[in-house]
Amino acid sequence: MVADDTLFAKMPADRKQSDFGVMACHSCDRLHTIEPRAFGERALCSRCGTFLYRSVPDSINRCLALYIAALALLLMANFCSFITLDAGGTQVHSVLLTGAFSLFEQEMGVLGLVVIVTSVGFPAVVILGMLWLLLPASQGRRPWLMGPVFRLVQALMPWSLIGVFMLGTLVAAVKLQGLATVTPGFAVAAVVALMLVMAAARASFEPEAFWRVSGVRPPATTDILPGTLHLSCHDCGLLHIDDSPEKHSQCRRCGAGLHQRKTDSVQRTWALVASACLLLLPANIYPIMTVAKFGAGKPDTILSGVQGLISGGYWGLAFIVLFASLVVPLMKLLMLAYLLISVRRRSTWRPRDRTRLYQLTELVGAWSMIDIYLVALLTGLVQLGLLANVTPHVGAVFFCGVVVITMLAAHSFDPRLIWDEASKHDSAAGRPEKAVVSTV
Ligand SMILES: [Zn+2]
Ligand SMILES: [Zn+2]
Repeated sequence: MVADDTLFAKMPADRKQSDFGVMACHSCDRLHTIEPRAFGERALCSRCGTFLYRSVPDSINRCLALYIAALALLLMANFCSFITLDAGGTQVHSVLLTGAFSLFEQEMGVLGLVVIVTSVGFPAVVILGMLWLLLPASQGRRPWLMGPVFRLVQALMPWSLIGVFMLGTLVAAVKLQGLATVTPGFAVAAVVALMLVMAAARASFEPEAFWRVSGVRPPATTDILPGTLHLSCHDCGLLHIDDSPEKHSQCRRCGAGLHQRKTDSVQRTWALVASACLLLLPANIYPIMTVAKFGAGKPDTILSGVQGLISGGYWGLAFIVLFASLVVPLMKLLMLAYLLISVRRRSTWRPRDRTRLYQLTELVGAWSMIDIYLVALLTGLVQLGLLANVTPHVGAVFFCGVVVITMLAAHSFDPRLIWDEASKHDSAAGRPEKAVVSTV
């Protein structure tokens, strides 16, 4: 079934009915013709295999409904009871952000701020921004400030870490066993539902259907002539064709600055990788928190925390924390360094696999935040006077720096650099191709 209420409806009269335009792959810059796809099919890049586009029936209304549900769930998650601790008759109630606010009281304001913005602040901006865009678009109107709001949402989406926060809550609940009885409140269910609804909303969004209300459409296949330069917008993906790229310094559709490649990508990524490497050492040497029971307890580093989980018999969680806190940041820095060196050496070796490697570093990086959420949750929850107390330490701030900087490093790398050398020897480089169709 072809979804005719998506981007493929209402083609302008001056263009051939079969010409839906051309787009460039954002990972390797190969040009592809846009063609109608049945619901469930995904169009992939013929050269590097990156996802290009899909057709979702009634995408705008579907997304709108999901983001309205997400807003309701976010409010519930913040205002309902999150977790109740019961230790020897002493009850401690907490809401979602209790942990983050108690970090401010413990003079760990930076950490508290990171937890607040990534677990609630950015998801809230993403949800409200999408509602701002989708409400008028659902009525066929162009939203006010369409480009800037879309770009803000795009920039904040990778930093909305609700799923990671949920996993942090799970580890915190396990750590608290034996210390107190943990009763999850309604907000826990709301956060789980919010995570699923946000994932569904992201999957239902069809950018080309949404951008149709802007009145700017991608260039037609006939506009692509041999030898013309093309520039693809980093934010909305619109292809710009021109002999003189200086003519278009801004995207015609979203207003973002246009560049052939991300500006100073290699230098910027190297600087961030080096900074993260420097911070990795104090992050592992200094303790991240002290869990004191009956006034006694010693400071825990990331590794001794993992040992604690192992000696408690929680092998699965110990593996998750070890993987997220140590293996992921280290692997990510090594992978980025390797990619930067391979680009510098103008390598043409297995560019498809190197693109996969890059996509992996982007995907897994955020999961390292689990340790930061763990510290915040335990600090907020475990304030039981003499019975038990959790104090955060400076190691957590260093570790938070490592995670944030490695994420920034992955975002500043431009994967198209991997393909630039191979493109020079590729006669098909400037010709639009058909996308590969996948149903998986
Ligand atoms: Zn590609
Ligand atoms: Zn754009």
